[in-house]
Amino acid sequence: MTTTVPFVTNGASNGISNGNGQPRLSAEVSSRIRERLQAAGVSFLANDNIAEHIEPGELRALEVEVADKVRDLLRTLVIDIDNDHNTHETAERVARMYLHEVFKGRYHHQPKVASFPNVKKLDEIYTVGPITVRSACSHHLVPIMGNCWIGIKPGVRVIGLSKFTRVADWVFSRPHIQEEAVMILADEIEKLCEPQGLGIIIKAQHYCMKWRGVKEPQTSMVNSVVRGDFRHDPSLKQEFFELVRQQEALLST
Ligand SMILES: [Zn+2]
Repeated sequence: MTTTVPFVTNGASNGISNGNGQPRLSAEVSSRIRERLQAAGVSFLANDNIAEHIEPGELRALEVEVADKVRDLLRTLVIDIDNDHNTHETAERVARMYLHEVFKGRYHHQPKVASFPNVKKLDEIYTVGPITVRSACSHHLVPIMGNCWIGIKPGVRVIGLSKFTRVADWVFSRPHIQEEAVMILADEIEKLCEPQGLGIIIKAQHYCMKWRGVKEPQTSMVNSVVRGDFRHDPSLKQEFFELVRQQEALLST
């Protein structure tokens, strides 16, 4: 059964009634989406995508609600947003940035990626990279910036090189911890082209270490995942890491 709920254009948090005896529904769109996810038993952690549980029009309403809450946050930080021309529309900007840019991988569907049969039975490994990593840490919501390399030993299906970049961007555009980001990206690539072997390396700098905390500007984190033939065949895994080293060397020339 589909229930139609009215739009909410501000942060009012009282329940609403449709007046004909049906249960009261949460007025805030975030509450309605959360209740829907909970009823479906679906996880909505920071690095989960919830796009298929957001109904048409709700994302726009969510943008308004997030802006209201950011405005409250700025006021709570004792910033005079009514008189400060610099922060006057910051709440709206931050809401748009979170929902449609830096965390779009939570709220928007995966970009369409066509896969094709591997008719020539290609089975030589290749690597794609560097692909820019733009993410944010789940702990502080500050940037994680770096590079990623993907190695593939093709299976029954293949996808275009540029598609790896699009899928990676969609996966990274969520609050993450790097160790989980690499696993989620590997899962998505496996779903798309079912490679015989898959390797991913991420090298990234965490602004929660550069900008705050220990304030260590040069430290980066490197992690990797290898699956399928890359995991079972040490020489293939070695070849992948060697190809990435060569790509990195090219960058510095
Ligand atoms: Zn952090």
